[in-house]
Amino acid sequence: MKAQAYQKCINFRCGAEFDRMDVLFECPRCGDLLDVRYPWDKLPVPGSLGEFSNKWSSRHNRLDFSGVWRFGELLPFCEEPHRVTIGEGQTVLQQNCGLAAELGMRPDGLYLQYEGLNPSGSFKDNGMTAAYSHAMMVGATASACASTGNTSASMALYSHSCGLKATVFIGEGKIAFGKLSQAMDYGAYTLQIAGDFDDCMGQVQDVCRKLKIYLVNSLNPFRLEGQKTIMFRILEQLGWQVPDWIIVPGGNLGNSSAFGKAFAELKELGLIERIPRLAIVNAAGANTLTELVNDRGLRWNGGQVDQELIADYYADLDARQYRANTIASAIEISRPVNLKKCIRALEVCDGVVLAVTDEEILDAKAQIGKYGLGCEPASAATIAGLKHLLADEVVGKDQRVACVLTGHLLKDPNATVNYHSQMQRPFSNPPVQVPNDLDRIIDLMKA
Ligand SMILES: *Cc1c(COP(=O)(O)O)cnc(C)c1O
Ligand SMILES: [Zn+2]
Repeated sequence: MKAQAYQKCINFRCGAEFDRMDVLFECPRCGDLLDVRYPWDKLPVPGSLGEFSNKWSSRHNRLDFSGVWRFGELLPFCEEPHRVTIGEGQTVLQQNCGLAAELGMRPDGLYLQYEGLNPSGSFKDNGMTAAYSHAMMVGATASACASTGNTSASMALYSHSCGLKATVFIGEGKIAFGKLSQAMDYGAYTLQIAGDFDDCMGQVQDVCRKLKIYLVNSLNPFRLEGQKTIMFRILEQLGWQVPDWIIVPGGNLGNSSAFGKAFAELKELGLIERIPRLAIVNAAGANTLTELVNDRGLRWNGGQVDQELIADYYADLDARQYRANTIASAIEISRPVNLKKCIRALEVCDGVVLAVTDEEILDAKAQIGKYGLGCEPASAATIAGLKHLLADEVVGKDQRVACVLTGHLLKDPNATVNYHSQMQRPFSNPPVQVPNDLDRIIDLMKA
């Protein structure tokens, strides 16, 4: 075997291998998902995770500054000259004592990994830097994606920074204004399809296949390599200790898939001893994963995932003309493209899945905001889910939990303003009307 990355079909029966230079978003033999794999024993892997901390001393080097490429040895699919970076991954893991106390946890037990600090304001930049590096490596000239918003914002930024054309497929009406404004401002060609995200996802795959355009949705296995680094940074900020739980919202299930792969590889390389548990939180209005895993018993099963169970479920969605519907637009997806890799991640991480209502999401979002880090609705599904997991004693009150806040508060200002000024929920904080009169103002402020 060459000392080089390659692609491999995740299907147990197929397992076909492909060159890293092939541009594929499904296995040409069986149609299943592809992984990026590495011949680790022929590659320079650090002896311990601590060696990555040394790179901070060479942060004048753009690639060592990047929160993704600092971990380049753990995603070695592309040589340095092709690596694209715009300074992604400068994100923080905030220990949030206030929120921990409010949830009845030990005060030092709750951490928020704030991915809103990325250049385009969401975790998607971790993946795009990797996908566009691969695009540069194979000489792509045009790229496209379907998006609920953040993918388009991120891809527009990265495609133009490396000179590729960018086309975005968005659904009707369902895109948060912060995100749409980014795609337009960064100059993406934006096609609004008369349909929802799942429709866009279908169309963009056909278009990319026909026109040989580089697809940057999370079907792209190279994109997921970049998203592994969110976990590396959490470990790094915990002094290379493994937390008890990682909690992440589940939409197209790219993140959860990437996290599972990250931990499986770190374990395989002997760089960690223990794998944390993973909790994936759906919105109740887009709960395909929860229903398939909790109600219908879908499991990894040694790689033999029950395809018929999935097909039946989707046929039922079709029969009911089901449309995903949630305020958390970033996870409003009923046919998650990475479903099988996510099922594998659940196996690797002894994971659990659950769904939370829009009210629970918005309440949790306001609580997160109140303690210092704003996020968009989808991100708050983590804390909403954590409340259930604590109540059900799945997560212990004295365990260490890291929640991934996937996107910035300013992505969806309408959801926030509406919650605070219209909804009269427990954490609503509406502006108070007062006449233009000093005494009345002072009365109110003394109250
Ligand atoms: C894309 C996105 C998600 C969903 O992540 P998946 O990897 O598709 O499951 C969640 N939150 C935000 C803010 C996103 O942009
Ligand atoms: Zn295959």
